[in-house]
Amino acid sequence: MKNHNRGVLIVISGPSGAGKGTICKALLEKNPNLFISVSATTRKPRLGEEDGVNYYFLTKEEFLDRIASDDFLEFAEVYGNYYGTPKSTVEEMLEKGWDVILEIDIQGALRVKENAKDGVFIFILPPSMEELKQRIIKRGSETQESLMTRFKAAYQEINYVSKYNYAVVNDTVGEAVRKIESIIQAEKCRVDRIKEKILDSKEGLIHEQLYD
Ligand code: 5GP
Repeated sequence: MKNHNRGVLIVISGPSGAGKGTICKALLEKNPNLFISVSATTRKPRLGEEDGVNYYFLTKEEFLDRIASDDFLEFAEVYGNYYGTPKSTVEEMLEKGWDVILEIDIQGALRVKENAKDGVFIFILPPSMEELKQRIIKRGSETQESLMTRFKAAYQEINYVSKYNYAVVNDTVGEAVRKIESIIQAEKCRVDRIKEKILDSKEGLIHEQLYD
């Protein structure tokens, strides 16, 4: 029997500096019914980042062990480091009815899309390429070289917007969050998502009235 209360899987990607992290944080603060998946990575923690909160920080060996145990829903190598989404937590939370957000790169999102046909794929765009550059510079955590790598990658990545269901321009965080909330609400009203629930509850009601 299908779990009618299963949550919605929401995948958010976009070039680095588009503001995904800030948007997801604000989205979570406003919506306690949302769960954000904490990824594993082999990247070193940035200042202020905490193990188990921002990421699970693993060694390369630990990460490879997890791949071998099939622990990831998807994983990808991004800027020389591995990143992966823990499979069991995401599945558990969806089954419990939580809407789960994955904030992952494009390669990972495309892999998830192959298996999770009912996922909602949202691409965050910067207001302009100039603004994107300024945001990457302001972040200040990158060396000059990795800054250029990220900027060039961003330029290429924007071409993948056509693989996503929705594009949200991050002019202001508040507005972007409002748009994503509307997308989630609309998705929860989609007939192909809820028709079985509606029909089953109709049957249940008739059954109750006739036989109870
Ligand atoms: P950062 O190092 O700036 O935290 O993240 C770099 C990139 O890795 C971002 O585009 C981010 O969305 C992506 N990323 C974070 N976690 C995952 C994950 O679990 N899987 C994949 N495929 N990408 C991830």
